[in-house]
Amino acid sequence: MTDAAAPNDLRLFNSLTRSIEVFEPVHPGEARVYSCGPTVYNYQHIGNMRAYVFADTLGRTLQWKGYKLTHVVNITDVGHLTSDADEGEDKMERMAQREGKSAWDIAAFYQADFEADLARLNVQPKQHPRATEYVAAMIDWGKSIAEKHCYELESGLYFDVSTVADYGRLARAVTEDGEGRIESVAGKRNAADFAIWRKTPPGETRQMEWDSPWGRGAPGWHLECSVMGEALLGFPFDIHTGGIDHREIHHPNEIAQNQAFCCTNGLDDPRNSGAKIWMHNNFLVERSGKMSKSSGEFLRLQLLVDKGYHPLAYRLMCLQAHYRSELEFSWEGLGAALTRLKRMVMAVEALKARHAELVSASMDPQAPVVAEKWTLKQVQGDDWGKLQPMLGKFDMAMADDLNTAVALTALDDVLAAKKVDVAKKMALAQVMDAVLGLNLFGLTREALRIRPKSATITEAEITAALARRKDARAAKDFATSDAIRDELAAQGVEVMDGDPLGWEWKLG
Ligand code: AMP
Ligand code: ZN
Repeated sequence: MTDAAAPNDLRLFNSLTRSIEVFEPVHPGEARVYSCGPTVYNYQHIGNMRAYVFADTLGRTLQWKGYKLTHVVNITDVGHLTSDADEGEDKMERMAQREGKSAWDIAAFYQADFEADLARLNVQPKQHPRATEYVAAMIDWGKSIAEKHCYELESGLYFDVSTVADYGRLARAVTEDGEGRIESVAGKRNAADFAIWRKTPPGETRQMEWDSPWGRGAPGWHLECSVMGEALLGFPFDIHTGGIDHREIHHPNEIAQNQAFCCTNGLDDPRNSGAKIWMHNNFLVERSGKMSKSSGEFLRLQLLVDKGYHPLAYRLMCLQAHYRSELEFSWEGLGAALTRLKRMVMAVEALKARHAELVSASMDPQAPVVAEKWTLKQVQGDDWGKLQPMLGKFDMAMADDLNTAVALTALDDVLAAKKVDVAKKMALAQVMDAVLGLNLFGLTREALRIRPKSATITEAEITAALARRKDARAAKDFATSDAIRDELAAQGVEVMDGDPLGWEWKLG
């Protein structure tokens, strides 16, 4: 397939076929994407947020390639147990008990926090259906597959994975040995069977429970995504995404349900797997275990901000790696990404200033292309002059299974280009930024210099101290100048003499 493709056809890695495929939309001109969303029982860690940066970059790339995008990121507000394989307690109910709040309040609070994090990472708005809004549809779906594919145990209605062809193909494609982290529940016909509906145990009540033909209880987590995907996007839709952990249990189970629902079984027909392409981002890893939500202060976006790192430095850090590669988190790596982002923002500021100068001098009255005009189709016919190869390099990279690391270098090339038309340079940088989502044209240098929470000194005090130090140096009073430097250092301010970025100081 790859060989026959034109160079810049969008090519994506499909975990289901384990190969790179040319993207061919189910509905001409459209792209419909479903990304597994968060379980809103706690804050999201930055590893989770890598999954949404990836999904957003994919969505932006589909738009760049001219497709009208419909993108769903569901909110799991019921049904996800502490183990993905139907073991343990319901995450929502457990947290509600621990915090002494209702499960509904917990869900609303953490959904709002999640959406705020998405906005800080410049993730485009998407549809966020809540699982609890689709329970009636889940019951209908369960009814339609119960007879042929399910059986009841005391604890609920279970899906018999031996009733569908090719169960676990997705997971096998990855692990090769066919073994996932599947635990056994007494009475299950097959170890991999999973709950479609979980009955509330006798004598107990859940905060979130509904009546169903299989007793009062709650839907299984896997069912939610099948039902919301089908309801909002129709089968088959184009792309289903999630973190790499979902390749092993959650997505194989979704696929099995979809096969049962479509009644036609074999995975050679894309309708049966629900989505044509299944894509998975690799993990963000952190050695000291701070990514675990059970570890007290875990790594979430707010912690990065508290330490003085802008959220978009984290987005850039993600984009510097390929989504299918593991990415190791380190504060040094994040610091390097922040420095790179600062350089980019400074280059854009200089560009904006130069452009404004030209416009005011009426030397170049032409307005720059604005962000609404940023699909490949819209810009490919324009004359980009010397910048043309950079556009080609950028498009080639994004089309190559989202090679964002190379695409970033094309953007660097544009920002560094000399003796080129300023309006064109500005327009092309805007176009590329719209695909990568770094918001370079909305950011300022000041916005990137975030005061760490621990800082005891204000910006005004720093500026005043630096002015006194400058005077002392001018008067060759190095003793005073050094003393001021030490005082600042004691308060966490590092004075950066001769800093090529011109930042003068840094709080760290
Ligand atoms: P959850 O709320 O646990 O369902 O996870 C939300 C999303 O984050 C899912 O797509 C997971 O696969 C993904 N995910 C979880 N941990 C990581 C990680 N360390 N790095 C990248 N993605 C992750
Ligand atoms: Zn899901």
